[in-house]
Amino acid sequence: MDRNVIAKIRLYVEHALGQGQSVPVSREQAHYLFGVMRLGVGAQVLLFDGQNGEWRAEVVEAGKRGGTLVVSEQTKPLQMPPDLWLIFAPIKKARTDFIVEKSVEMGVSRILPVQTDFTNAGRIQRDRLQAHAVEAAEQCGASYVPDVAEMVRLDRLLADWDKSRQIMFCDEAKVASKPTLPALASPWAVLIGPEGGFSPAERDRLQRLTHAHPVSLGPRILRADTAAVAALTLWQHQLGDWQ
Ligand code: SAH
Repeated sequence: MDRNVIAKIRLYVEHALGQGQSVPVSREQAHYLFGVMRLGVGAQVLLFDGQNGEWRAEVVEAGKRGGTLVVSEQTKPLQMPPDLWLIFAPIKKARTDFIVEKSVEMGVSRILPVQTDFTNAGRIQRDRLQAHAVEAAEQCGASYVPDVAEMVRLDRLLADWDKSRQIMFCDEAKVASKPTLPALASPWAVLIGPEGGFSPAERDRLQRLTHAHPVSLGPRILRADTAAVAALTLWQHQLGDWQ
C-alpha cells in the first residue's frame, strides 16, 4: 500500500491531540489498523478528536490488542459545522442509521431523535447511533462529531425550547407549495416527522410557534430519510456553509 493511501486512514480518538502527543490505540482500533488494514510501525494515519482539528500521526507500536501512535503535525484546523440541529423521529433501524450518517455528511452540529405521536420506534440505541456518527465523520473528512442526544418526546422538547433557535418544520401538508425558507441568520433546527407524518395536534402546535417555520420539500411526499437529506441540502444551500 503506498504512503498516500495509508495517510488517508482517518480515525476519531477520544484523546486530546497536540504536537508530540502519544495516543493509545484501543483494542477495536488495533484490530482495524493492524489487523484489517495491515499497518505496521512507521505507517501514517490521520487523527481527529472533535476539538483540536486533524493531525498526522505515526504508528510506533502495533500489537494485536493495542498500540501507540505519536502525533507529528496538524493537517487541518477544527472545522465546526453550522449551528444546525437535526430533529427526527426514528424509523426502521437501517433507515435511522442512514439519517444519522447522512446528516453528519451534510453538516449538522447535533442530532436529536424525538418520539412523536406517530413514531414507529419506541426506543433507540443511542451508543450505536453515536458510533455511526463517528464513522461518518471519519470517512467524510469532518473534524467534528455531532452529539446524538437521548430520545425525548417532541412535546417535551418544544416545551423546553430556546426560542432564539428557529425550527425548519418540514411539513408534508405543505407538499403543494414552493419550498421557501426565511433568511434568518440564527441557530436553526430541521424537524422531520416519522413515516406516519405529524399528528393534527402536533401540526397545530408547531404552526402556533413563532420560531417554527412550516416548509415544503417539493411536490412529492418523501420518505423520512430522503426528507432529512433534502431539508439539510436546502438549508445548507440557503443559510449554511455551502454558500
Ligand atoms: N405519511 C405522511 C408522510 C410522512 S413523510 C403522508 O403521507 O402525508 C415523513 C416526513 O418527511 C414528514 O413528516 C415531513 O417532515 C417530511 N416530508 C416528506 N415529504 C415532504 C414534503 N413534500 N414537504 C415537506 N416535508 C416533507
